[in-house]
Amino acid sequence: MAGPASFLIEGYREKYGGGEAPRLVRAPGRVNLIGEHTDYSLGFVLPVALQMACYIAVGPSDDGRLRVWSENVRQSREWEVDDLGAIEPAGEWSDYVAGVARELVHAGCRVRPSNLYLWSTVPVGSGLSSSAALEVATAMALLDESSGLARLDIARLCQRAEKDFVGMPCGIMDQYISVFGKAGCAVRIDCRSLGHDTVRLPGGVSIVAVNSMVKHELGGSAYRDRVRECREAVDAISAGDPAVASLRDVSIPQLEACAASMPKLVYRRARHVVSEDARVEEFMLASVAGELKRMGELFVASHRSLQHDYEVSCPELDFLVDSAIGMDGVFGARMTGGGFGGCTVNLVRSDAVEAFRAGIARIYLERYGIDPHSYVCEPSDGAGEIH
Ligand code: ADP
Ligand code: MG
Repeated sequence: MAGPASFLIEGYREKYGGGEAPRLVRAPGRVNLIGEHTDYSLGFVLPVALQMACYIAVGPSDDGRLRVWSENVRQSREWEVDDLGAIEPAGEWSDYVAGVARELVHAGCRVRPSNLYLWSTVPVGSGLSSSAALEVATAMALLDESSGLARLDIARLCQRAEKDFVGMPCGIMDQYISVFGKAGCAVRIDCRSLGHDTVRLPGGVSIVAVNSMVKHELGGSAYRDRVRECREAVDAISAGDPAVASLRDVSIPQLEACAASMPKLVYRRARHVVSEDARVEEFMLASVAGELKRMGELFVASHRSLQHDYEVSCPELDFLVDSAIGMDGVFGARMTGGGFGGCTVNLVRSDAVEAFRAGIARIYLERYGIDPHSYVCEPSDGAGEIH
């Protein structure tokens, strides 16, 4: 950790002056292996926490204010600590910080006047969850051991900050994995019980995220539409079976039986969610058994379902997936995250990774004139202090 630690301490001191060394915290981004757009239907997801993370150096301020400098956007913002419980969103990056501070106050935690110096190595706005990394790192920075807040409460509070303050009706996955990630493992999260299991990944295979470098504006509104469409499907099914409270409770045969009771579009949305939940389960079993070929097939099936039934992909992501699956050493590829841009996740034989990265970059550049960044993902631990 020598790299980020010394960079953070230096940056903090330059911004806020010398004195006592700041505390250092880290919260990772994530790549979701499978289980896409299932969290807000209380289903299953299987993300890994990344080595790429949001780091914060934090120390006390002596003027009653909470102050934050983002090294990424090179801007600072500040608030009176006594006002935090009643602040309003500003419609910009600092809302992720302010929203968490406000939720902490609402949860009865004491937020001390502090200076925050933040720097994230998670690519921002690329579907690798820089937002949750920022939220969880903020919570870690503002909390100390005496707060008594459980780690699950931290994840939930950060989710509330994004939902209620930033205004993005997200599920729990991103904040949860940023808190509970485990080195070397994927984490299967049950988004209803909020329990999890860790899943070891087979050897000899690498997870590579490829960034399309595009983000279509449609993302935010389509996300809200999908949340609503899932709710419509649940309403149609629960009319005949009151035990159904979310798509998590629905099996494929039950959905088929109810198909006529909902619009075709709503049925297709529900078919994605219900079939995706089943794929998470199957992927876990395949992973434990080391069945790389099957894992890859499930990746592709997930992508096709997101592409055709859920309609949250885009031409750039489809191109990256279609290109990847024809390349040497690639077991499977799919879009990851909310969609409409951002990253694909690829399951690649470890000795083929460098050739894959070079090859996909070349053909994407040829097709779109954009050099796609790619990241070899190292499954990492969740949020905590660094030294
Ligand atoms: P993702 O979470 O996939 O990266 P989002 O759109 O959910 O994409 O979140 C990205 C937003 O989070 C950015 O537009 C910015 O407002 C905020 N953000 C994330 N990291 C930082 C950072 N290091 N500094 C400032 N803002 C950040
Ligand atoms: Mg996000």
